[in-house]
Amino acid sequence: MQPFPESVHRARLEAAASEAAGRGVDAVLVTPSSDYLYLLGYNAPPLERLTCLIVHPGAPPTLVLPHLEVPLARHELGALADGIELRPWEETDDPFGVVGELLGKGRRVAVQDQMWARFVLRLRAAMDGVDLVEAGPMLNALRRTKSPEEFDRLRAAARAADQAMDAITAGHLSGRTETDVAAQVRDLLRETGHDSADWAIVASGPNAASPHHTPGERVILDGDAIVLDIGGTANGYASDTTRTAFVGLPPEEFQDLYAVLQQAQAAACDAIRPGIAARDVDRVAREIITDAGYGPLFTHRTGHGIGLETHEEPYLVESNPDPLREGDAFSIEPGIYVEGRWGARIEDIVICTADGGERLNRSSRDLRIVA
Ligand code: ZN
Ligand code: ZN
Ligand code: ZN
Repeated sequence: MQPFPESVHRARLEAAASEAAGRGVDAVLVTPSSDYLYLLGYNAPPLERLTCLIVHPGAPPTLVLPHLEVPLARHELGALADGIELRPWEETDDPFGVVGELLGKGRRVAVQDQMWARFVLRLRAAMDGVDLVEAGPMLNALRRTKSPEEFDRLRAAARAADQAMDAITAGHLSGRTETDVAAQVRDLLRETGHDSADWAIVASGPNAASPHHTPGERVILDGDAIVLDIGGTANGYASDTTRTAFVGLPPEEFQDLYAVLQQAQAAACDAIRPGIAARDVDRVAREIITDAGYGPLFTHRTGHGIGLETHEEPYLVESNPDPLREGDAFSIEPGIYVEGRWGARIEDIVICTADGGERLNRSSRDLRIVA
């Protein structure tokens, strides 16, 4: 990932410290993860050896790391290293004891959401009377609001995914296995500008009714609906788009279902503006699908936030009353699934700007008739 200017990371570290202070937290412990990448601009290898960034209000951040990784950290941090205290540990040291000593007793300490259980347990044992809490609420609060530069990266990722989607549905799909098509999708994702192809759902025929189907050896046939949900990472930021194709002429029953889905997806995108509750966006899509009689067949939430990770806050789900804010980026992806027969989904990444929603995926949302 092309790092952002050092000033961006300094500001993020300061914001994390003040979020922690505002929540009465003495320190935030961040092991290699997207949070680590967000704060420092590089990711350390997530290994059995402890690497742990300590963000503490009122003091410079400390990076506890294996001695052998000091050169990597210095190289990747560049000028940012000046404001960070490096605390290397030797192969025979107890790194958890090092963190415990730095933090002292009886503190309120937040741990990164994906920290390994072994690390959490050892850290707890090394810190007498520690009150461990989740770091998610404070870090997600920062990460969910994207800067214009982050929007640009999401736009570029979406554009690349659109190109890959158009290329795959322009080719021949029938007679091929799902895995074969999925392999081509991954190649296309890399060719169009992704650094990594993270997944390619190719769900054909009855498999299209399984929202997270794993492509298998099923051969795509005439009369199949095909749900293609593809994504990767470009310059650190994720793409995620879904289009539905049909092999040959779709029966009227499927066309009707698809027309309702397309209307629901467009209406939810049009509803985006700062201040609307996340659940109300879900309701907009669900109401149209329910009114048409397909309600129970829309079996998942309407969308998820996206950024450094494919799934992050905010979640567009009935249980989330939080208002959307300028700077949010998320998917709008209603689907209708008929078990044993077929299914359809349409997914765009949308960003919430002061003027409303901007759809980053621009490729045609019409049902794609393929051969
Ligand atoms: Zn999904
Ligand atoms: Zn998605
Ligand atoms: Zn998706």
